[in-house]
Amino acid sequence: MAGNQFKFNSDEITRVIELMSTQSPPHHFEFHDPFWVLITTMLSHRTKDQVTDAASRKLFERYNGISGLASASVDDVVKIIDKVGFKNMKAPRIIEAAKIIRDKYGGKVPGSLDELTKIPGVGRKTANVVLSDSFGIPAIAVDTHVQRISRRMGISLSDDPEETEEAIMKIVPRDLWVGLNPMMVEFGKKICKPIGPLCRECSVSRYCAYFHDQVEKKSV
Ligand code: SF4
Repeated sequence: MAGNQFKFNSDEITRVIELMSTQSPPHHFEFHDPFWVLITTMLSHRTKDQVTDAASRKLFERYNGISGLASASVDDVVKIIDKVGFKNMKAPRIIEAAKIIRDKYGGKVPGSLDELTKIPGVGRKTANVVLSDSFGIPAIAVDTHVQRISRRMGISLSDDPEETEEAIMKIVPRDLWVGLNPMMVEFGKKICKPIGPLCRECSVSRYCAYFHDQVEKKSV
């Protein structure tokens, strides 16, 4: 990992985001409905996008939304999300989330970080994905991809996602927060991979601390 923090000005970080987005266009949710985004995000951990999307589609076809899923049996949901990673843990969680939204929030996904993170199984990252993607509220969701890229590039020196969130919020213009997570996630999957990042092909290497410290110097 890089040890230097890069000082980005607003034009540079805007350029970085443009370049990443062009090199690796983001994967978007099929729908921006808050319940769809919430459930899909809860299912997505350690699961491929195509598998997650297919599981969400099947769930929504079978249960037709919040009330249906709230009344579902865990066994049935496990069967429906069969290919999803950690299905046995995720099935009761999404049913519980549906119940809470039905009973406590009148069937509407709450649109605040505080309320979303009161739902068991909904962490800060998932809440911020829902806020930005469904509600259009500027929020930064830091998952493993965003954390890794930020650390390598020198945007954040911390391994703590909340500190990285703060570091990103300080340098990225607020009007670019919505959409930042899906863009960086895709960039992390295709280019800035966990192991063997494609630094020589990377469109933002000139802005990257890791590239200057670990790649460029070693090739001189
Ligand atoms: S240069 Fe390498 S480490 Fe830096 S952002 Fe690109 S792929 Fe990631």
